[in-house]
Amino acid sequence: MFDIQGYFEAETVSEAAAILAANPHLKIIAGGTDLLIKMHKGEIEKAELLSIRNIKSLEGIRELENGTIVIGPLTTFTQIVKDPTIKEKIPVLAEAANSMGGPQIRNVATIGGNICNGATSADSASTLLALNGKLQLQGSQGERVVPIEEFYLGPGKVDLKPGEILTGVIISPENFVDCGGHYIKYSMRKAMDIATLGVSVICRIKEGNVFDDVRIGLGVAGPTPLRCREAEAYAKEKVISADLLAEIGKLAVKSTRARSSWRASREYREHLVEELCQRALKLAVVRAGGAGIA
Ligand SMILES: Cc1cc2nc3c(=O)[nH]c(=O)nc-3n(C[C@H](O)[C@H](O)[C@H](O)COP(=O)(O)OP(=O)(O)OC[C@H]3O[C@@H](n4cnc5c(N)ncnc54)[C@H](O)[C@@H]3O)c2cc1C
Repeated sequence: MFDIQGYFEAETVSEAAAILAANPHLKIIAGGTDLLIKMHKGEIEKAELLSIRNIKSLEGIRELENGTIVIGPLTTFTQIVKDPTIKEKIPVLAEAANSMGGPQIRNVATIGGNICNGATSADSASTLLALNGKLQLQGSQGERVVPIEEFYLGPGKVDLKPGEILTGVIISPENFVDCGGHYIKYSMRKAMDIATLGVSVICRIKEGNVFDDVRIGLGVAGPTPLRCREAEAYAKEKVISADLLAEIGKLAVKSTRARSSWRASREYREHLVEELCQRALKLAVVRAGGAGIA
């Protein structure tokens, strides 16, 4: 069952940081939908937990005066799906959030837990990478901000120093204003299934149906979520056509480090990357105001 040996609660971030500094072995618990499963499976024994659920400053979504959107780590997936600012300004993130789990899980699971759990299959990850998201981390020694791409270090391994808490997910306006995006989660079932592959694309189009900017984030195409830099650079300043999308799909595969698992072989995942990048881009182009491709 749950081998819980101790339980602490914090009301503020500084209180949480102080408790963690005095008790570095504590495990932070938010929604518990990853942590409690690991404890139930016996992967974590004799756990002492620090609940951050009472820290009000970690909840909700704020839009700053300069247009930056800051998502509190305790924001649940349901809140992201329903949030008017996200729906209007970054609908691709609402789309990704809505593909996660089922309603019950989305009501409890937090975006902070999804990121800090470090899974390559995390449904928020590829979109946050494509959005050039940044993470605000607070420890007893102070605060630092890390691009989410650098936060993922390996399977289940993230750049959280001992005692650090994720306090905000920062998305700057230049990464979503005038952009169109699309997230495709490829999984065996339509709900309550982990992605076999996740593709999130964001693009901006300029006059002449030319790509001004293309960003492609992938999940489960490697040990961590990743960006397809070569494909993105190739796409820039080119007139959008079916041939161009086909080439982008091929180049995207070059950035992957997929492996075979019981869910899919490496070859199948590479095929999915090539195909789904094109499909995601087709819709993203239209959403960005570009001309559709047959
Ligand atoms: C039935 C089921 C279906 C699921 N389906 C999906 C799915 O389709 N897609 C998907 O991506 N995931 C899925 N998950 C996994 C899980 O629900 C998500 O990863 C969820 O977002 C985790 O959030 P949480 O708040 O529950 O995290 P928790 O379990 O509370 O924490 C997860 C990890 O993050 C750390 N942590 C949490 N918050 C912070 C913080 N602010 N600062 C520092 N560390 C922190 C914890 O210490 C822990 O290591 C599923 C889980 C279940 C049980």
